[in-house]
Amino acid sequence: MQTLLSHRRRLAALAASVFALAVQDADAAHVSRLTPPSELFATGEADPVIARFLPGQLFDLQATVQPDAGQAVVNFAFYVDGSPVTNRNADTMARTSIVTETGPADTCIAEGETTGASGCKLIGGLPANAAVISQRAFSKSSPGVHTFKIVAAQGNGVLISATGNFEIVGVDRGGHVAKNIIILLGDGMGAAHRTAGRILAKGYAQGKAKGRLAMDTFPYGGMVMTASLNSIVTDSAPGMQNYVTGNKANNNQEGVFPDDTLDPFDNPRVEYLSEYLHTLQGKSLGVVTTADVFDATPAANAVHTSARGNGTGIVDQFLDDRSLTGLTVLMGGGRKWFLPNASNSVSPQPANGSQRRTANDYVLPDDVVNGWGAAPGALDPERDLIGDFQAAGYSYAPDKTALDRLFQGRTPSKLLGLFAYSNMNVSYDKINGRRGDSAVVDAFGFPDQPMLDEMADRALQVLSKNPHGFVAMIEGASIDKQAHLMDSDRWVLEVIEFDRAVAVAKAFAEDHPDTLVIVTADHECSGAALIGASSLTAADREADPASGKSAVGTYDAAGFPKYAIEDDGYPETTNIDHRLLIGYGANADRYETWLPSTFPTKDTQQPFPPAESPVDPNVRNEGVGYAISGQVPGDQAVHTATDIPLSTFGRGANLFHGVFDNADVFFMLGQAAVGGTD
Ligand SMILES: [Zn+2]
Repeated sequence: MQTLLSHRRRLAALAASVFALAVQDADAAHVSRLTPPSELFATGEADPVIARFLPGQLFDLQATVQPDAGQAVVNFAFYVDGSPVTNRNADTMARTSIVTETGPADTCIAEGETTGASGCKLIGGLPANAAVISQRAFSKSSPGVHTFKIVAAQGNGVLISATGNFEIVGVDRGGHVAKNIIILLGDGMGAAHRTAGRILAKGYAQGKAKGRLAMDTFPYGGMVMTASLNSIVTDSAPGMQNYVTGNKANNNQEGVFPDDTLDPFDNPRVEYLSEYLHTLQGKSLGVVTTADVFDATPAANAVHTSARGNGTGIVDQFLDDRSLTGLTVLMGGGRKWFLPNASNSVSPQPANGSQRRTANDYVLPDDVVNGWGAAPGALDPERDLIGDFQAAGYSYAPDKTALDRLFQGRTPSKLLGLFAYSNMNVSYDKINGRRGDSAVVDAFGFPDQPMLDEMADRALQVLSKNPHGFVAMIEGASIDKQAHLMDSDRWVLEVIEFDRAVAVAKAFAEDHPDTLVIVTADHECSGAALIGASSLTAADREADPASGKSAVGTYDAAGFPKYAIEDDGYPETTNIDHRLLIGYGANADRYETWLPSTFPTKDTQQPFPPAESPVDPNVRNEGVGYAISGQVPGDQAVHTATDIPLSTFGRGANLFHGVFDNADVFFMLGQAAVGGTD
């Protein structure tokens, strides 16, 4: 069992100049990972450059070193362009660490040092003497491609080194800058989802759309390649964070690069757009979602973790690191993470619905705290996080009525809204509730939830109080969640709800011309395909829910489905005679009835899911509908690798055109916010 190195003393004892003369990547094979990721390290090829940053954007340097058997790393230094990294100020020592520990938490204390309150970082699948070496919170300002090198010394004096590269992307100064940035993220929203929303909400006549979605009216845009660091098929964590860090993360990871330790909160970090612009310009951050606020898309704007499921730590970090991110508005579902859980148990379920527990909470190692100025965190399932938000000056709304009351005669300076235990109800059910059929929202226990456009309007009122501007991320989360469930009626209405929020943002940008609005998705979900329209009436489909293929009118027979739209902006019913029919190319098994489900399919994240909800979509309507074999295992449709559309409006919108990578979007946002456009 190795002990933690007393690296500070040893670093001080060995002059960096010794390393400056280090051999040419001697024993590079002893470095199994070098961060930030590069092809130069992985394959020896200098192109393409993988990691790119804006000038001054913070990121961590890290290397996993595997010394010879019986040896340990006793010293190290990182070099950039041949010069030792001394960091931005004198406390370099506090920003570095070597972790070699492989034992349980109580064995990592050595020579009066600890790895911090979080204890040891177990290194997965590596030899016991492997070392994870970190230099936290580095940045570089000069544009261009830079090389970086780790040099580590074994106890016997043998040096180990390896080289990678990264790029600093310059900003052209002197243009008109976008003071406010609004990112509208339709989770899982591919081209088919947008088209379906338009067909339902606007209708077609003789081949022409009778109206346009708000997002259709945006003058610029392009197609986005959505791959993550480790797959052509991304999940929502890197799908979001790639836009707002400029870098690729692995699936499940938010604001970090992968590493070789098991602690989900110690990964090498990369600074978010929110953090970068809060430091540089004093901007505020607003995060608004219809999901649980711990969910991947909202968290991947402010929280750094390699495990998107660590709800307690994620919501704590939203508040604890508000001074880094400028978090000013947080709205969505997810109250279950904010309520105290004195027992630290979720089985049996606490009566208040809390799911806080130490197992998914966070404590940061010292070098992260010192390097990033982050809060250290604590394992505190008993924390009253709503109370802590209120003590920090956030006005709190548990429902729409309370939200509206907060804005009577004033505008709050900071706002927290938590409108459900976990994910909010979808618009299909919220609208039914507002029209008098409240069975679903009542069964969830939250009959008074705001719509996304109403939340967006309130968020922009609060955020626009900051004269330095803001970054807002507004997510239509259940386009994705209902596409996973292959519930066509519910995700199409989610697109309509999302587009109403787009209209709110567009109107704001028309009133505030120094605002950039982008509408996009993180990835496509379900391989949705608009295959035609029903050749059967609603009554005939109800009489024969297993009608299957015989109900599908294709080509000429599809014609133009015509939905009646009520004053609230949503279809009177989706179950019209000649309704749009939707197939799935990335589906699990399902039983298709071509009919709406009265209750949404069970949401396993709800602490108290309604008994009426059907279980998994692969068995929903079993014995009733037409059996369709899926191409993917499991019980849900999956994300696909298909490019997705992106549309832009307002100041800097013209920077976005053509086909680009999701990480490229970050640099367009940076240009708009820092350098500006004509
Ligand atoms: Zn998804």
